[in-house]
Amino acid sequence: MYGVRGLFVPGPTNVPEEVRKAIDLPMEDHRAPTLPSFTLPLFQDLKQVFKSETGQVFLFPGSGTGGWEAAITNTLSTGDKVLASRFGQFSHLWIDLCQRHGLDVELIDVEWGEGTPVELYAEVLAADREHKIKAVLVCHNETATGVTSDVAAVREALNEVDHPALLFVDGVSSIASIDFRMDEWGVDVAVSGSQKGFMLPAGLAILCVSPKALEASKSASLTRCYFDFKDMIATNKDGYFPYTPPMTLIRGLRVSTDRLLEEGLDNVFARHRFLAEGVRAAVRAWGLELCAKQPKWYSDTVSAIVVPEGFDANQVIQRAYHRYGVSLGAGLSKVAGRVFRIGHLGDLNEIMIMMALSGAEMAMRDAGLDVAPGSGVGAAQEHYRRAENGYADFRPHLAAAE
Ligand SMILES: *Cc1c(COP(=O)(O)O)cnc(C)c1O
Repeated sequence: MYGVRGLFVPGPTNVPEEVRKAIDLPMEDHRAPTLPSFTLPLFQDLKQVFKSETGQVFLFPGSGTGGWEAAITNTLSTGDKVLASRFGQFSHLWIDLCQRHGLDVELIDVEWGEGTPVELYAEVLAADREHKIKAVLVCHNETATGVTSDVAAVREALNEVDHPALLFVDGVSSIASIDFRMDEWGVDVAVSGSQKGFMLPAGLAILCVSPKALEASKSASLTRCYFDFKDMIATNKDGYFPYTPPMTLIRGLRVSTDRLLEEGLDNVFARHRFLAEGVRAAVRAWGLELCAKQPKWYSDTVSAIVVPEGFDANQVIQRAYHRYGVSLGAGLSKVAGRVFRIGHLGDLNEIMIMMALSGAEMAMRDAGLDVAPGSGVGAAQEHYRRAENGYADFRPHLAAAE
């Protein structure tokens, strides 16, 4: 194929040139005396991305899944009760991981397309007078369905009844893309990964952990070794790691973190909102529905688009990939064949989104869907044209719309 392929899966995301160059390095000595002058400020700056002053950041080799494992094995003990809800493949997998580690999951099943059921959480927490629930899990952005949950509301539900449970957030496809506030929302463990909002290759689980969760880790008895906070803390304090760290990724993380902080997190969030609104305008113009049931659930990092009855979303995805060189995300598990996804997070601009929309539009027409040529693309263009100088101009409008 000539030209570039379009990568519009919701992770791995596009890696900016600057970051790609920054990780193309000769191998280095990870015990060099100069390493701490690089790592210590990085640990510090990463806290800003989580909007945390009191938390501690951990970089584990692994991916988001490893981050989930680190979160629970460090803070909980066998048989501990955790409250969780399932409304997509990622919330499902975290629950499965908890169960396989011997936790007792109080599970609320929710229709796919909705998010964390805050009212039900509040009821369960209020009824738990003996405080048997040790942790509450929230999948902030369910990547399988394009649904964003209200983490702040879960914190309020906990506070309402003075419940001491830890609050764990899967922020793998939200942190560094969608508003996230570790300290303000009283999050105890926030989990992310390198290959989504951080715009890096896969390979790092990036966590931020509250003092309360660190305290809990002292008595928690689930087995852990590779992901032990204790070993990380002991070596990180001097700027080193307990085992060989993936230095190229960590060098890249320096550059991507700089980019995020230079753009300004609120600008990063506004850009994602603005790009996402263009995708949603296209979906409306196609006459299609999002998997997310209500606007309050709409995700600014991924849209799961439902194909009409009688059509196979995988056919659209295959066609887009083979004929137009555009990767769209597949429907997972329950929604396989029913949805295709457009990932709109990371290093993206309007014209890149137009590539995704254009590829999807042509592929849908090729697959026989009744969408008018140019309809979605045209609607997105008109949305993007509204911002005279780009998304930053659009920030006041975004604020007003909230
Ligand atoms: C991508 C993702 C994960 C983790 O997946 P890995 O493949 O292990 O990085 C977890 N949760 C959500 C919401 C995700 O989008």
